[in-house]
Amino acid sequence: MIKLIIDPGHGGKDSGAVGNGLKEKNLNLDISKKVVDNLSAYEVNASLTRSSDIYLLLKERCDIANKLQADYFCSIHINAGGGTGFESYVYTKASQQTEKLRQVIHNTVAGYYKKAGFPDRGEKRANFAVLRDTKMPAIILENLFIDSPNDSIKLKDAGFIDGLAKSIANGLVSALGIPLKPLLNKTPVKVKAKATVDQARSFLHSKNVHAPDYIDIYINTGERYGLRWDAVFAQSCKETAFWRFGGDVSPNQNNFCGLGTFDGKPGASFSSPCDGIEAQFQHWHVYYYGGDLPAGVKELDPRRNAVLSSGNAGTLQYVEDLGGHWAPSKDYGASIVNDYLAPMLK
Ligand SMILES: [Zn+2]
Repeated sequence: MIKLIIDPGHGGKDSGAVGNGLKEKNLNLDISKKVVDNLSAYEVNASLTRSSDIYLLLKERCDIANKLQADYFCSIHINAGGGTGFESYVYTKASQQTEKLRQVIHNTVAGYYKKAGFPDRGEKRANFAVLRDTKMPAIILENLFIDSPNDSIKLKDAGFIDGLAKSIANGLVSALGIPLKPLLNKTPVKVKAKATVDQARSFLHSKNVHAPDYIDIYINTGERYGLRWDAVFAQSCKETAFWRFGGDVSPNQNNFCGLGTFDGKPGASFSSPCDGIEAQFQHWHVYYYGGDLPAGVKELDPRRNAVLSSGNAGTLQYVEDLGGHWAPSKDYGASIVNDYLAPMLK
């Protein structure tokens, strides 16, 4: 299991920066605890260097991580000194791997700040002790400026801090490929399909005898993308009303999963059913596997970058997890399972 150290900067006699009635040490601890809370659903050993208001030397923080042989070290700080926004640091001589991980986390967190109107001050390097003396890839996140009146308003906003902690956790999950904890009653996606061709075919035809039969395309594409085709096919049954359509998408768009149909938009069009179905698998793929498409495939999914920049790339594990991601409804994925996949398997 991946071992992660979250390091709330400062503590005890060392307040860190102060300003606008705030002490950095308290904010660092609050954010760090919430990051760990957000990771509780994941298969990761996440621990804090301090869980209360105590003083720790920089060396002690590094020793904790080195003794544990942690896979990653993430230090949480608040900036000061006249400025605004977010920046991150890795060691002056950081490895390529450290940079690669930093980029994912940085972009996720910077995206959260940008939405709230704060600038991305960039990906920086420095010779800081916790970056230099930790034996694993390490990052420092500098979250807003405690001495800026405008930044401090957000630092006092519990809802904003909750969202920040969630985006840091999402960045770590995405960067390190941390899987969700398995839950027995959920439907995994990176497994072989349970439905047979005949089950899928007779399910489809029992609902719409005139529906075109693209089941072989789902099966072939599912194999290439490492995703169970029956779940993806079940989603198309839901989205197209068994190829009766009648929603925002027309049949000639070859869009069998409503890609890009939010806000009343007509959604994406594809040149063939094959391309449309492959785009659908690519959209699942970015949610379940992250940024790397299988080698040699043509990028077809028009919503791919939206997932990559949301910080959710590679973070989903079960069909049920699509709820709140693919579609706003929390029950979206559960509906694919309960209303389409389960009856297909009967
Ligand atoms: Zn600090």
